[in-house]
Formats: sequence, structure tokens, C-alpha cells
Amino acid sequence: MHIDLTGEVAVVTGVLGRLGPVWARALLDAGARVVGLDLAETASRRLEEALAGGDRERFTLVGADITDRGALDRALRRCVSVAGPPTILVNNAGIDQPPSADGQSRLFGDLPDAPSAEVLEVNALGTLRVCQVFGSHMASRGRGSIVNIGSLYGGLAPDPRLYAHLPMDPPFLKPPAYGMSKAGVAALSRYLAALWGPHGVRVNTLSPGGVLGEQDEVFRERFSARTPLGRMALRGDLTGPLLFLASGMSAYVTGTELLVDGGFSCW
Ligand code: NAD
Repeated sequence: MHIDLTGEVAVVTGVLGRLGPVWARALLDAGARVVGLDLAETASRRLEEALAGGDRERFTLVGADITDRGALDRALRRCVSVAGPPTILVNNAGIDQPPSADGQSRLFGDLPDAPSAEVLEVNALGTLRVCQVFGSHMASRGRGSIVNIGSLYGGLAPDPRLYAHLPMDPPFLKPPAYGMSKAGVAALSRYLAALWGPHGVRVNTLSPGGVLGEQDEVFRERFSARTPLGRMALRGDLTGPLLFLASGMSAYVTGTELLVDGGFSCW
């Protein structure tokens, strides 16, 4: 099945991380122009060329912190001037809770506010701001598809048995602010789907489960054993769902959350 996004202009935030290049490559391969946003300090010409591959003409990297409204306004102007008005937005930038400064693990009652506030600021409010800037532009032009990247943990608590006795901060590998922020992202998608449906903009959440990466091997085995499809997600498992939500294949789908978790959330 081939999805043709020729003529579309897609914006991908957090494009230089683990999943950002997966979304960007899928959109480029489908024919879209892609404007990738990431923190200014990591956005470089060398990375831009590596990411673009053979599609140098259709890929642009723009340095922008999604918590900075002024930087996002500038990024929108740059997007319009180099690629055209945005028609697809993938809100992918996000952070996990930074490790505690003193290296100490903490019980829930002792978690300090600052790291949690930072996660909420980037994942929830940052996503809101990107929608304010790029989504409002789409709504004013009457067309667009927004895919907000959520997480399995926006709707499900991390299972402590998966993390037991591993070299991770007990008792939370994923501290509560992460799930709180991702639940907020799904709520934002529903809110904006209702607000912008009449203006031709669809807004959905794509929530991956555990994506195979550099996790501890014991963790991978436990996670796979608990997953009905018997393994963690490969990056290629995510591209079909993204292209479905980004394209006209899902023309009558808005406000929904698509879990791509191999059935992890079934039990
Ligand atoms: P990552 O940490 O590898 O990449 C995140 C990217 O976002 C980085 O390039 C970083 O520089 C950028 N970023 C962070 N703060 C930013 C800011 N303020 N402004 C602009 N850019 C910023 O993360 P990832 O694994 O690629 O995950 C991408 C998204 O997918 C995240 O929203 C994450 O919560 C979600 N997710 C990931 C997984 C997984 O297993 N990898 C599973 C479920 C959900």
C-alpha cells in the first residue's frame, strides 16, 4: 500500500531524537516536504544532511525550543518561506524525567517538584504551544492533520514488576509526570479535534508502547513476555500508523488515540 503525500508540508518536532527521524523519513518517502524542529543547540547542518539522505531539497532543519513561543513563531515563518504552509504536524518532542541531580533515588513522597514541572512544561505545554502556532495556522487555512505523540503510559501505569531489581531509579522508571504529561497530550488532541473539526483540521494521538532500543536485556525480555505480540515495537512498526493518521486514509478519524503497543494494554 502506498500513501502519497506529495504536495504536503509536514512539521516534525524533536526530529533529532530516536523516533523523530523515523517519522521524518516515512513522510519524506511518502513524498512530503518535511521541516524538522529541534533544540537550537543540537540542530546543525551536518545532522540536517544526514537526516535528509537523498532528499536535501525536501528537508529543512530549524532550531526551535518548543517551550519558547517566540521561537515557534519564527519557525512557522521559516517553514512557510522554505517549504510552504504546514499541512501535517507531528508533535513528537518530549522528555523523560531527568535523573536526580544528586544521583539519589527517591520515594514518591520525596519527589521534588522541579523535574516534574520540566516534564509537564515540555511534553504538555510545549505540545500545546506548537499547536497554538502551527495548528492555528492550519485552521486559518482550512486544512491539516495533527498527530500528537503520546505514550502507552498516558493511559496505563508502569508495571513495577518489569523494572524490579534493575539498575533504574526505584520505584519508578517512568516517574508520574511522564504519564501525566502524556494523558494531557491525549486530552489536548480531543479538545483541538472538537475545536478545529469544523475548520478542516483533524487531531489525533499516536501512542507507542515500548520501542526496542538500548534497554536493559532483562527489561526487554520481561516487556516482550508481557506483550501479546511477544516483542517490543520495532521502529518500522510505527510508520504505517503515522502515515494512516497523517493522510487522507483517516479522513473521518479525529480526536482518537491509536495505541501501537502490540496488545500490551489488553490485560
Ligand atoms: P528522544 O529523547 O530520543 O528524542 C526527543 C527529541 O526531542 C530530542 O531530539 C530532543 O532534543 C527534542 N527535544 C526535547 N526537548 C525539546 C524542546 N524543548 N524543544 C524542541 N525539541 C526538544 O525521545 P524518543 O524516544 O525519540 O521519543 C519521541 C517521542 O515519542 C516522545 O514524545 C516520547 O515520549 C514518545 N515515546 C517514545 C517511546 C520510546 O520507546 N522511544 C515510547 C512511547 C512514547
